[in-house]
Amino acid sequence: MKLSHRITNITGGGSDGWDVFYRARQMKADGLPVIELTIGEHDIRTSPLILGAMYDAATAGHTGYAAVPGTVTLRETVAARIAKRSGVPTHKENILITPGGQAGLFAAHIAVCDDGDTAAFIDPFYTTYPGTVRTAGAIPKVIVTGPETSFQPTKDALMTATKGAKSLLVNSPNNPTGVVYSAQTMQDIADVCIANDLWLISDEVYDTQIWDGTHITPRSLHDMAERTLVIGSMSKSHAMTGSRIGWICGPENAIAQLLNKATHTNYGVPGFIQDAAEYALNQGDEVEERVAAPFRHRRDLTMQALAGQNVVRAVPAQGAMYVMLDIRATGMDGESFANALLDEELIAVMPGESFGKAAAGHLRVAMTVDDASYVAALSKLIAFAQDRAA
Ligand code: PLP
Repeated sequence: MKLSHRITNITGGGSDGWDVFYRARQMKADGLPVIELTIGEHDIRTSPLILGAMYDAATAGHTGYAAVPGTVTLRETVAARIAKRSGVPTHKENILITPGGQAGLFAAHIAVCDDGDTAAFIDPFYTTYPGTVRTAGAIPKVIVTGPETSFQPTKDALMTATKGAKSLLVNSPNNPTGVVYSAQTMQDIADVCIANDLWLISDEVYDTQIWDGTHITPRSLHDMAERTLVIGSMSKSHAMTGSRIGWICGPENAIAQLLNKATHTNYGVPGFIQDAAEYALNQGDEVEERVAAPFRHRRDLTMQALAGQNVVRAVPAQGAMYVMLDIRATGMDGESFANALLDEELIAVMPGESFGKAAAGHLRVAMTVDDASYVAALSKLIAFAQDRAA
């Protein structure tokens, strides 16, 4: 039987970008001691206190169908958190709880794009973006950035590429580059959205992981709250990747329509997970800082390891759990380098090419193993690059 074009075309006929990751996982399953610096997942697990709150909620009976838009108290907690951080008045009517940021990204595109509409995003991009856009029935359009602007988009490129588009998706702090968009870049993005009448989808799942600079949510810029859908998640901020919990924050009418979509698709998020998320958010910023701290420290370890050589250079790593390394001095592309590094050194990193065209000749290194293993792997990577360059 023939399946729909929508489902068979999710990856656009190409690879989904995860080939090195799958190969590394297979090698590991075969018993090889591969160091994985691939996926964006902490080397710690969800805190026992959060798990305790989850257990208490479940045993108290919050295991039935939960309120589809999210519990009133979780929506209020998320709204208060956003209002405090952004200065934008935010109420529970602006919040829909979703099963993770990924589901939020999909729902946001469904909310603003009709079939065949153009949905733009910045290259390099988080690997799921093109497939998410296609699954929503829209057509992906990339706006290519480059190392010369530290992978921040220019106003001209944004303006030209989004003419006739319906939406623009941006992500700061950025996966894969680790770059935090400057105030000027965010203002350019806002100006372009207003000039070209775009919905802005702002993926802010790394907003608690800032090492340099300031996180600016574009929803807080003049006239932007009415055209912005912010995607949030507890995955990265609270090491709750497996709990699948996040949110969309946007104008009330958009959230009301998104509630309708939630009723007819996932039908809410488990109540005991929502209660645990509420508990976690109420523990305050200190918990989030503790979860983020190892990445800040490993970013510093990365800069120390790279000092004194110039074959491997880091893109300014200002946030998120990744560092993007420029290995063009080796003469190799990211894919060949990552594959050879895996085969010869048993170190798995993501080729820049997995994230679009703009990061060709780069590697995305996830700083997601303990410090000693991380530094050892990085030293081997640098030695390997120096050897190839020679
Ligand atoms: N957005 C970005 C940029 C990501 O890197 C990820 C996960 O790695 C997500 C969204 C989705 O996160 P989750 O669905 O776990 O909230």
